[in-house]
Amino acid sequence: MEETYSGSCLCGQVKYAMEGQFKAFYLCYCSRCRKDTGSAHAANLFAPGARLTWLAGEGEVTTYHHPDSLHAKSFCRHCGSALPLLADELGFVLVPAGSLDAEPPIRPSARIYLASSAAWTQGLEALSGFDELPELPK
Ligand SMILES: [Zn+2]
Ligand SMILES: [Zn+2]
Repeated sequence: MEETYSGSCLCGQVKYAMEGQFKAFYLCYCSRCRKDTGSAHAANLFAPGARLTWLAGEGEVTTYHHPDSLHAKSFCRHCGSALPLLADELGFVLVPAGSLDAEPPIRPSARIYLASSAAWTQGLEALSGFDELPELPK
């Protein structure tokens, strides 16, 4: 079923709507996604044949294509937030889960490129958790 999902960047200058259906939700642990997110993994939803419409700030969206690979990333040039990527040649829209304004409609479907994941991502379930920023070490 076709649905419409909306999202935006952190500074709020870029807003988008995507019409379509999410078919996969991958957490990617590859070294490229580590660099471009600055974190342990990317969290991307894939919507084959979906339609992406920029509702605001299209001119602020920049796309980086990594040389000699399919790796690409769209982001807001003001705040650096990850934004959807229209992978025309591959026929899908890739939506960074965190850019959506509401919870994604599906759960993550797989963790991929685990063989190149950072060692520090192992055993994270054992860490203490806080609802806010705890007191920082001095
Ligand atoms: Zn922004
Ligand atoms: Zn990756």
